[in-house]
Amino acid sequence: MDKIYDVIIIGAGPAGLSAGLYAARGKMSTLILEKDKTGGQIVTTNEVANYPGSIENATGPSLIARMVEQCKEFGAEIKKDAIKEVKFEDKIKVVVGEKETYQARAVIVASGASPRLLDVPGEKKLTGKGVSYCATCDADFFTDLEVFVVGGGDSAVEEAIHLTKFARKVTIVHRRDTLKAAKSIQEKAFKNPKIDFIWDTTITEVKGDGLVESVVFKNLKTGETTEYHADEEDGTFGIFVFVGYIPQTQLFKGLLDMDEVGYLITDDNMKTNIPGVFAAGDIRVKSLRQVVTAVADGAIASIQAEKYIENTFHE
Ligand SMILES: Cc1cc2nc3c(=O)[nH]c(=O)nc-3n(C[C@H](O)[C@H](O)[C@H](O)COP(=O)(O)OP(=O)(O)OC[C@H]3O[C@@H](n4cnc5c(N)ncnc54)[C@H](O)[C@@H]3O)c2cc1C
Repeated sequence: MDKIYDVIIIGAGPAGLSAGLYAARGKMSTLILEKDKTGGQIVTTNEVANYPGSIENATGPSLIARMVEQCKEFGAEIKKDAIKEVKFEDKIKVVVGEKETYQARAVIVASGASPRLLDVPGEKKLTGKGVSYCATCDADFFTDLEVFVVGGGDSAVEEAIHLTKFARKVTIVHRRDTLKAAKSIQEKAFKNPKIDFIWDTTITEVKGDGLVESVVFKNLKTGETTEYHADEEDGTFGIFVFVGYIPQTQLFKGLLDMDEVGYLITDDNMKTNIPGVFAAGDIRVKSLRQVVTAVADGAIASIQAEKYIENTFHE
């Protein structure tokens, strides 16, 4: 507890590791705190799409291993600890973990967001094997196959339209009888000959041995359940779930400004409403949540933290 770091970064996903690299290269004493596996959401995928320079054999774990090595090379410390409380009222910020309490001149919050799950049997086991939460990342695995999209909001319908560029057929499964998405997006979906709809319906189970092979639907009005099986020749199909994300911001309620969903509000320099506290990555209000935007945020946050420390502590 005696040591005061220049920068503490909460979360070792792509945003936190990029922030760590920039902070450590800027000769700031840097501590990255991670509650779980280093690497965040991207370590759950074996195929990193859309990250410039990331081509064949670029798995999430291999990309993260390189990011960690780079961070450590410049002296950033990475510790495993789940942050339970933060105290941001004084100039020296206090971050309380399950294991220890830490202090820093600036804090970068990079604790990410996780896709809301359907929470049905088979879903977790078949994630990455037919069940996906990211069309931008996984659409091309379903080229010429059938795909179901669960959800009725903007992202579900937009992603369904995107998926029609790859899949043979896309069926939107929605628990209501009308979509929630903006009218302009709905119109595009209704006009798209590759998109079909199943209304008033949820998924109650995903089944498969290795890959997704069947899915159980439940009609919420009639209570009737039906099992859909993969086309015999295809052997599998995709299920893309877009029923929302859960930003990991519970800790910051009442302290940092957030939108109605819980994403942190920052300016273009990643500054939150509290001087010396920055936010980076999926945790922010933003239009695209990908590795490329997360690492960009992390870089900006660190450069700004450095400026803040220079102006606040070295005058
Ligand atoms: C299955 C899947 C596949 C994807 N594929 C791609 C892809 O191919 N290409 C692409 O560009 N993007 C992809 N994405 C999106 C990409 O992974 C995210 O945009 C990116 O990981 C966001 O980085 P982040 O650092 O902001 O947050 P995260 O990756 O969510 O990392 C946040 C980290 O903070 C930690 N944390 C949270 N709370 C605390 C706490 N209280 N104390 C300590 N640590 C905490 C978490 O454990 C986590 O490790 C994919 C996402 C998923 C789910």
